[in-house]
Amino acid sequence: MKAILVHEFGGPEQLKFEEIPTPKPATGQVLVRVRAAGVNPYDTYMRAGTYPVKPPLPYTPGSDAAGVVEAVGDGVTKVKPGDRVYTASTITGAYAEYCLSLENQVRTLPASISFSQGAGIFVPYATAYHALFHEAKTRASETVLIHGASGGVGTAAIQIARTIGCTILGTAGTAKGLDLVKREGAHQTFDHTKPGYTQEIVKGTGGRGVDVILEMLANVNLSNDLKMLAIHGRVIIIGNRGEITITPRDLMARRSVARGFTLWALTEAEMNDCFAGIGAGLSNGMLRPIVAKELPLKDAPQAHVDVLAPGASGKIVLTT
Ligand code: NAP
Repeated sequence: MKAILVHEFGGPEQLKFEEIPTPKPATGQVLVRVRAAGVNPYDTYMRAGTYPVKPPLPYTPGSDAAGVVEAVGDGVTKVKPGDRVYTASTITGAYAEYCLSLENQVRTLPASISFSQGAGIFVPYATAYHALFHEAKTRASETVLIHGASGGVGTAAIQIARTIGCTILGTAGTAKGLDLVKREGAHQTFDHTKPGYTQEIVKGTGGRGVDVILEMLANVNLSNDLKMLAIHGRVIIIGNRGEITITPRDLMARRSVARGFTLWALTEAEMNDCFAGIGAGLSNGMLRPIVAKELPLKDAPQAHVDVLAPGASGKIVLTT
């Protein structure tokens, strides 16, 4: 099969398009014929060697694939060859024509969701679901600021928060991104490249502040986030690429909290909640992954450049 391999940590040029043996499913494993693989920012940190998790080299990147079950190992009962599925992590990597997953890492892909959309489910939607419900304990009557709403996690969070009835404020850095954020359901949109936009956000809440902030770039925004919160507000740190100084008094004055998480640390019970919510939302049409761009698998190096560039409008996926 064709697959992307990383032999050395480094720049996007380390993503090599190669021919390797197609894996075979062992007991409890599922072999998926991958039709699309989602490109997540953490794939780039892992490739660069800067992510806390360093896979043994060489490795094939990617946790989010969508495709069709090709074969199953002994003991697998939940899926069978021919089933449409998406993966929530893989054993062998999603950037390939075939990938192996454990049985509990594959989930049914509803017929209404394309393979490219399916490649944008696991990391973005589980992250958004967990942040909103398990970390922030968001209620329908609350105001949610999605700080970085135009990308994979942001668009997922808009759709989920909109489903339960929250008032949503979303930011993006381009006109295209702002249009998307509005179209997906944000009640108010703000350009995070514009000076003074955080004061506009507070004005947009009538001066009260926001109850929940989902933060995609904490090293840039956390200090301002703390000043935009309502009393008992919560900042949930999802993305961070560096250091920042904050004024703790901003938390004290609002009896507020800032907390963070990584998706890999979720408990089984939390993960089951995420899958139940996501599965229902995909089936009833409330959740519709947004595909910004499809590139052929061999263009993985370009996809890694694009995913870190400004101007997000949903997910970048690799097709095979
Ligand atoms: P993405 O699709 O590349 O989107 C990035 C988002 O960040 C876009 O909406 C982008 O907006 C926005 N952004 C850029 N500059 C910003 C600024 N100054 N202020 C606020 N937002 C800004 O990435 P993603 O998949 O949504 O992931 C977002 C972040 O969360 C990444 O850092 C990722 O590594 C992290 N993440 C963490 C977890 C976890 O387990 N904690 C899970 C998933 C993702 P424009 O492009 O419109 O400027």
